[in-house]
Parts: sequence; structure tokens; C-alpha cells
Amino acid sequence: VSEAPASRGILDRYSAIVSQAHDNLTALDQLVGDGDFGDNLAGGVRRAVERNESGSDGVAALAEAFLNDVGGTSGPLFGLLFQELATVSWSDGRAPDALSVADAAKSALAAIHRVGGAEVGDCTLVDALAPTADALATAARDGADSPFTVAAEAAVEGALSTASLTPRRGRASYVGERAIGVPDPGSLGVALLFTALAGVYE
Ligand code: ADP
Ligand code: MG
Ligand code: MG
Repeated sequence: VSEAPASRGILDRYSAIVSQAHDNLTALDQLVGDGDFGDNLAGGVRRAVERNESGSDGVAALAEAFLNDVGGTSGPLFGLLFQELATVSWSDGRAPDALSVADAAKSALAAIHRVGGAEVGDCTLVDALAPTADALATAARDGADSPFTVAAEAAVEGALSTASLTPRRGRASYVGERAIGVPDPGSLGVALLFTALAGVYE
């Protein structure tokens, strides 16, 4: 009962959007990786819903599930993202301060870089998260009316931009230049998250 309903709303919306994208994410990871990203993401969200039902707050449940229950490269990396986002106050009704979400996204980027070593341009989820954090910080500074919509647009644009990149990290790096034309599945998973957030607040 102490849970902020917005946090549950984020989990529910992300869960719905990830189920819709599951098969497409699988197909993309089949082209450039080992085909398990759709299952890893959808499985993590399902475990988060279970953890939420046993009492964990929505965003914290995502962090716990991805850090503890999901394998692959994406499990721990999404876990770090949710862990930082869980420090934000997702208060009921009102959207959180965009700057605090931008700061959490930047802390997550730093943690993901420490663990995985990817830079912007390496064709990973960093290519969605980095421009999203920047767009949120700018939107907050400018007092934009809909900062989370701005962030979602930056996340989608960043994710789609990976289609023209040669992967330099993760399994897709083995495919190399043959991955050109395929958007990085992990970056789309990040774009779906910020799309869900914008849906909850705006
Ligand atoms: P695995 O390759 O272990 O099967 P997943 O399929 O679960 O991993 O996740 C693949 C996604 O993980 C990629 O699409 C990419 O976005 C992300 N990823 C892989 N390696 C890295 C890395 N070093 N840094 C950041 N993200 C990465
Ligand atoms: Mg995979
Ligand atoms: Mg795998």
C-alpha cells in the first residue's frame, strides 16, 4: 500500500509494450545475435510482475528481476538501468522531476559503461540511453511541457540510428558489418521503456 501507483503503472505499461514487441525483438536478435533477447526482456518483465505482486514496488521489482532472474548480457545491464531509475521518486499522479530522471539515466550509463565498456556508436543499448539522458536533461533545463515525450522520441531515434552502425560490443560484433540495416534489439528495449514512461505521465 506504500507503493506509488505510478511505479506500478510503469511496470504494467512496459509489460504490455514488451509483450507486443516480443516476437520482433526475437527476430532481430536472431539476425545479429543468438535470438534470446525477446525472451530475456519479456521474461524479466514477467518476473518483475511476480515480484511486484509479492510486494516490491514496480520499478524496484524490475531492478530485482533483471539483476537476479535474467541471464544474457542484457539482464545485468537492464538491471543496472532499473536500479538507478528505482532511486527516483515515482510519486502518484504527478510526473517526477525530469532532471532527477536524467541524472538517474546518466548514473545508469556510467554503470553500464563500467560493466560492458560500450561507447556511443558501438551499436548497443547505450545508443538509445545516452541521447535520452541528454534530451531529458535539456528538456528539464528548458522547462519543456512534456519532457518524457521528448525523451521517448530521443530514445526511439537513438535506437533506430543503430541500424546504420557496425556493432563493436556484444554478440552482434561477431556479425560485424553484416549487421548493418538491423537496429540493435537492446536499444529498442530501452526505447520501449521510455515510450512506456511517456505514456504513464503524458
Ligand atoms: P546475449 O548476447 O548474451 O544473448 P541479449 O540478447 O540478452 O544478450 O542482449 C543483447 C543486447 O545487449 C544487445 O542488443 C545490446 O543492446 C546489449 N549489449 C550487448 N553487449 C553490450 C555492451 N557491452 N554494452 C551495452 N550493451 C550491450
Ligand atoms: Mg541474445
Ligand atoms: Mg544469449
